[in-house]
Amino acid sequence: MNENEFLNIIKDGSIKSWGSHSVLPSLVASQAILESGWGESELAKNANNLFGIKADSEWHGDVYAVDTKEFLNGEWTTVKANFRKYDDIGESIIDHANFFVENDFRRNNYKQLIGETDYKKAVKAILKPVADYSYATDPNYEDKIIKLIEQYKLYEWDNVAIGGNDMVEKIGSSHAGHGGAGRWTDPGAVGNGLQEATVAREINDKIIKLVGCKDTTDDRGTSVNGILANTVANINNSPSGYQISNHLNSFGSASATGVEVLYGDISDKPMAEKVSKAIADALGIANRGAKDGSWLYIANNSNWDKKVLLIEWGFISNPNDMKALKNNMDKAIQAMLKCFDYNVTVDTPTTNTDVANKRPRQAVETYWYGVDSPKYKLIKQYLKDNDLKHTEEKGEDGRIKIIVSSFNQDSDNKYKLEKYLSKNDMNFEVVLA
Ligand SMILES: [Zn+2]
Repeated sequence: MNENEFLNIIKDGSIKSWGSHSVLPSLVASQAILESGWGESELAKNANNLFGIKADSEWHGDVYAVDTKEFLNGEWTTVKANFRKYDDIGESIIDHANFFVENDFRRNNYKQLIGETDYKKAVKAILKPVADYSYATDPNYEDKIIKLIEQYKLYEWDNVAIGGNDMVEKIGSSHAGHGGAGRWTDPGAVGNGLQEATVAREINDKIIKLVGCKDTTDDRGTSVNGILANTVANINNSPSGYQISNHLNSFGSASATGVEVLYGDISDKPMAEKVSKAIADALGIANRGAKDGSWLYIANNSNWDKKVLLIEWGFISNPNDMKALKNNMDKAIQAMLKCFDYNVTVDTPTTNTDVANKRPRQAVETYWYGVDSPKYKLIKQYLKDNDLKHTEEKGEDGRIKIIVSSFNQDSDNKYKLEKYLSKNDMNFEVVLA
């Protein structure tokens, strides 16, 4: 079990300890880490007992016996010590919160702890001199607990518990699922003259622009695995909360349709359901709902405070899905962001309506360059060499607008051109009509 897995397992129980016993979740969680060695102790592994609580006379549940050696009557004897055995780790956590209040003596000894909302005061409350009897004998116990709470931001669990579970976390970051060096190394799925990477990038750019969250798209990786590893590193450097991964689905048959959202942890399933429905409704296509994404690389390798949601915004292999996405992308993004309590309005672009009406299914791209700029010459040469149809318009500011319109017959051309432009460090503006 790695640290992320362990934190995910103890999260629910820790947060519940506030509702059940008014014991602060961050304190309970940091004690669980410290006392079980991240769930690796013998008692944790074999009895789900994280805190080494003994099966005393007040315990009526299952028992786990450990052999200990004691020096009795002049010789070493093996004695059995009985510990509480729990069905799961969550039960151990709740029982631990209960430990502080389960009899009059402890309730009095730890009275400053109950209801304390400041984690620094909470840990003091279980040690001398605030408590008559210290919970722990380790002189560094307080430091260790505070270090864990701060390093793993366990105080955020206190906020969730005290603020109520209906608090919606914001989006920490978003990325276009298939990044890579020069943006388009990994095209992802391909269909209907479109590339997953390009469409996911378009969606992602809009999200970033609207809510100002961190863009975790990788633009350095040169292999799928490299891109994934870089993306995770970007995610781990982002604020906690939801990490959105934007993708398009693909299937051999063109009839497969709909939106689905994969969640990295079961606790995020309700949000995945909500997001999937919101997008599907906005696009007017099927809602395939929430799916288990705990196997995802980005879910398994990002830090515990990152809540991974992978959105499949429709099927690239389905022309109807792509039409719905093209026509309602802004609306769908807006609906998605509403799930996270963002209130944003998306400006619908109007500049390309003429082109769109005349050639409704054609992808049109424009590139603006001064006629004397080396980049203008480069792109002209490239278009000529590759026999790509294009027209030119003179802009008000004297720049030349190059309109390339032969992409939807051969999407590979678009991919190659964008790669070429990015290799030559040329800025370009992409307009999909
Ligand atoms: Zn994908």
